[in-house]
Amino acid sequence: MTVSGNRLVPTIFERSRPGRGGAKVPHPGNAVLDRIPADQLRSEGPRLPEVSEPELVRHYVNLSQLNYAVDTGFYPLGSCTMKYNPKIDEWAARLDGFASLHPLAPDELAQGTLQLLWELEQALAEISGMKAVTLQPAAGAHGELTGILMVRAYHRSRGDLERTEVLVPDSAHGTNPATASMAGFKTVSIPSAPDGGVDVEAFRAALGPRTAAVMITNPSTLGLFEARLCELLDAVHEAGALAYMDGANLNAVMGRFKPGEAGFDAVHINVHKTFSTPHGGGGPGAGPVGVGERLMPFLPGPRVLREPDGRFRLEREGERPTSIGRMRAFAGSTGVLVRAYAYIRALGGSGLCEVSEEAVLAANYLKKKLTGILDVPFERACMHEFVASAASLKARTGIRTLDVAKRLIDYGYHPPTIYFPLTVEEAMLIEPTESESLETLDAFADAMARIVAEAADDPELLHAAPHDSPVRRLDETTAARQPNLRWQAMTGAQNPCPD
Ligand SMILES: *Cc1c(COP(=O)(O)O)cnc(C)c1O
Repeated sequence: MTVSGNRLVPTIFERSRPGRGGAKVPHPGNAVLDRIPADQLRSEGPRLPEVSEPELVRHYVNLSQLNYAVDTGFYPLGSCTMKYNPKIDEWAARLDGFASLHPLAPDELAQGTLQLLWELEQALAEISGMKAVTLQPAAGAHGELTGILMVRAYHRSRGDLERTEVLVPDSAHGTNPATASMAGFKTVSIPSAPDGGVDVEAFRAALGPRTAAVMITNPSTLGLFEARLCELLDAVHEAGALAYMDGANLNAVMGRFKPGEAGFDAVHINVHKTFSTPHGGGGPGAGPVGVGERLMPFLPGPRVLREPDGRFRLEREGERPTSIGRMRAFAGSTGVLVRAYAYIRALGGSGLCEVSEEAVLAANYLKKKLTGILDVPFERACMHEFVASAASLKARTGIRTLDVAKRLIDYGYHPPTIYFPLTVEEAMLIEPTESESLETLDAFADAMARIVAEAADDPELLHAAPHDSPVRRLDETTAARQPNLRWQAMTGAQNPCPD
């Protein structure tokens, strides 16, 4: 059985009846079948559920309704900018000329897509203040790897082979140290300063002739703008190292801060966090990387080039021998890049600035409303997200961040990101985004206040939450270690369930 609303209903397998179907597929005829080698033919039909078309539609619509989505409610997950995705970007990505283009089409037949990719590179270079951009990487983490491989190629090209370390602050996303290791470097973790920012003195002490790069997330995963960035970047360059920026939080600073102008040598942009694309299901993303002068020769190939006559083409094999090579098949996640282009063109420069201003305003408003209800460890103004904590609630009532998050589901909200960043006890990382109304933010703050009151009055209610969801509190460790993703009949195959 499965769930529909709050009722148990048969699964699609249990609804199956032999011979029932939604479409009649014509028999291919013996002339066709004769041409298929006998050992390639099935001896029996596939064991698929046999249901009518409405039953099939209901199956998928019902499944979709078991999901919580930004199209159904507020989604304050931090570190993800799980924003509303304008529907026009979906329309653009589905246009036949983009969606149906064959990846091996010759340049002459792909001029529109090549132009879009070229213009998107220009737009991202402008937004990030970098000299050039590659659109190849498939996600932020892949962009990090691309950037750090270029850093490695840069040092090698100068015969500087002693640089084996990458410095990463302890508040960084786990992909940063993972990237450094994958590129063959040793990660040196640098503790944060008490105000949540990077500890410039600790960085200075760790910088030296062995440092290849530092990776800085700005704004940080705590939702804070790095106040001492310029000092830090000067020290990095004095030491002969390069500075990489994790740009996952670019949503907060568009039009206000350009990593290239600040002195970063490379930055990745998670376009699926900042420029549209629904990425909640872990679906396709894109992680373009912008670079400064020093890393330009090493950009992955093939790049999109514009000829003097205005036509576009891809670089030829071996045309730029300094390139680190291909990071991904074809031109990257083109569908995601079309959405990013549509988003940027629809909003324009002033629109993007407004996005950042609204996102920062919404986060500071909600932070203020939750101050006093939860702990808010960092007092200074936040960027597009902020950290709250249930540490003192736990000390008072035994109710933890996990309980609060589960209870939020009963109130109709997706929980925020919890237990990240690791540097804050009982952390909740809350990111309201620019697309939510004042009323939604107020209602969310009210729900939090009610849950905190419940923690004192009826802690059992919270320990057992959620109460109103299709499934109750799950054993997340077992779910991750032994995922059970396939329906299997309990008694033999295709055992129909009496309706
Ligand atoms: C999301 C995120 C990443 C990883 O990006 P993906 O696109 O998920 O690979 C890296 N750093 C930070 C700070 C992030 O929020």
